[in-house]
Amino acid sequence: QAQLDEEVKVHYYHPDQREQSKRQLQIKNDLYYAADYEEFELFYQPIIDVREKKLYGFEALIRWNHQTYGYVNPTEFIPIAEQSGRIVQIGYWVVENACRQLKTWEENGLDAIVSINISYRQIIEEDFVERIKTILKKSECQYEHLVFEITENILMKDIALSNRVLNELKAIGIRISVDDFGIGYSSLSYIKKFPIDILKIDRAFVRNMDEESNDLAIVRAIVEMSRSLDLCVVVEGVETENQLNLLKQLRCRLIQGYYFSKPLPPQEIDAQIKQMNQQLKTS
Ligand code: C2E
Ligand code: MG
Ligand code: MG
Ligand code: MG
Repeated sequence: QAQLDEEVKVHYYHPDQREQSKRQLQIKNDLYYAADYEEFELFYQPIIDVREKKLYGFEALIRWNHQTYGYVNPTEFIPIAEQSGRIVQIGYWVVENACRQLKTWEENGLDAIVSINISYRQIIEEDFVERIKTILKKSECQYEHLVFEITENILMKDIALSNRVLNELKAIGIRISVDDFGIGYSSLSYIKKFPIDILKIDRAFVRNMDEESNDLAIVRAIVEMSRSLDLCVVVEGVETENQLNLLKQLRCRLIQGYYFSKPLPPQEIDAQIKQMNQQLKTS
């Protein structure tokens, strides 16, 4: 473990930076106990099928309620956990909890997928797929309801390894989604080399879609090529009705974003589904 544990580099150039580094170090240390102290929670953000006008599923997103800092954003602590290797243990915690929640939803008759973020550091663990299989068996959820999200740069890091791991996951029925698609370097023809089912278009393209026709053109190109490659597309970060309408014109089917819902704790999901069904009926 110690050798995996790359030190967060500390440089004292500026008081702000010093504060920042102190916080990073603190976060890195506290990540070792956070799960034991039950400081992690999983929130769920709905993904909507706007063609069928129904819920498609959820993305599971981790939340950390730190004892002194309060809520720490995953964009702050996930990179630190990846660097220290702690993401491996946290990642198993996430899969375990997401599968437990999925099982509960299945028992309540909800037909929805749950999409889980996976880091590169996790898939290079030699027993990753074995551990996943063990967790899934215990949870008794339906594997067809599970999607693993990996970013496109993971695919580029080690092509042979990611191909092997993804194929093993696919073999047990888990679908693979490429997160934040479009901001990296991989092309669609490159993506085709991997057993991918879903592309998630990064919200950077959606943000300025209304004004900036460039971004709209990129989204259109991705959507059209995905169709010919038989890939599903999820568009992330949809916040406005205008954005939604533009995406509907492109015949985008799966939408995720604040327009429909923020990520929510599981106990608030039922009420949110009711509200979204109402919203979909009138749209
Ligand atoms: P991501 O996987 O790309 O997740 C989408 C992020 O966009 C989430 O941020 C979500 O809250 C946010 N988002 C969704 N819709 C909108 C919108 O309409 N507007 C805006 N402004 N934002 C929107 P979040 O929850 O802060 O997570 C940030 C990142 O942290 C995730 O990006 C993912 O890379 C990472 N992450 C979160 N949970 C996990 C986890 O369990 N494991 C791993 N390895 N990474 C995670
Ligand atoms: Mg994601
Ligand atoms: Mg994303
Ligand atoms: Mg992202």
